[in-house]
Amino acid sequence: MGIRKIDPRRCDGCRICADHCPMDVIRMDEDRNKAFIKYLDDCQSCFLCEAECPKEAIWCYPVREKRVAPAW
Ligand code: SF4
Ligand code: SF4
Repeated sequence: MGIRKIDPRRCDGCRICADHCPMDVIRMDEDRNKAFIKYLDDCQSCFLCEAECPKEAIWCYPVREKRVAPAW
């Protein structure tokens, strides 16, 4: 659900996504100066990160998924 990918080729390390995420899902890799998805399960699909990224480096899945356990 929610955030799916941060493209490291587009990301310039501006930190806007990490600063805006209300759930603290995104962190910065300080060595590479790139954002990455740290706590995917906490994402609330609010789309703030995707909307605020000036480099269009973030892709969020538009529908909240239902995770269904297999019957077997
Ligand atoms: S807002 Fe976009 S460019 Fe800035 S750190 Fe996040 S992913 Fe990278
Ligand atoms: S969609 Fe919202 S909660 Fe999920 S990573 Fe982006 S800003 Fe954080």
